[in-house]
Amino acid sequence: MAGKAPPPLAAPLTVYGPGSYHVVGFQRSGVPGGSMKVLFLDIDGVLNCKTSRQRHRGLMGVDPRLAQIVQNIVRAIPGLKVVLSSSWRCLEDGRAVVEKKVVPCFDITPLFDEEDDVRGYEIQAWLELHPEVDRYAILDDDTDFLEHQLPNFFNTSPKTGITQQLADKIVAHFLS
Ligand SMILES: [Mg+2]
Repeated sequence: MAGKAPPPLAAPLTVYGPGSYHVVGFQRSGVPGGSMKVLFLDIDGVLNCKTSRQRHRGLMGVDPRLAQIVQNIVRAIPGLKVVLSSSWRCLEDGRAVVEKKVVPCFDITPLFDEEDDVRGYEIQAWLELHPEVDRYAILDDDTDFLEHQLPNFFNTSPKTGITQQLADKIVAHFLS
């Protein structure tokens, strides 16, 4: 969560298990010629903001104006896969609502236990399992990401959600 500094990475790697994940460290190595592009998508503070009136289950919903900006990113990058990293992935219908109101989701990031409840870990675990990814972007209003992920991190303000200016930077990041 915001403000929580992740502990330093240790090697070697990772224990993965269904239902309970515990991170030991990471050793990502890409597949030569891998070409998958992935956008890790948060919802609250990205697809809604202070002025959004939409509600979902009594909480903030998806603002169609902001959804349009994300849709335009996906349209601009052929083959771009969206992976839901938001806590909305824990809601029973969260992914379905995102797919209906924003964009289709290729997957969701794994859920870690409380001890490893750092979003950067969850994203890193997904990346470890998908060495075919050669470029990714993290779109989030929180900041709990790993140091080596930061060049791929695009930070929104919960006051505004995603802006066109940030979307342009993300598109440029994928096309560079
Ligand atoms: Mg958020």
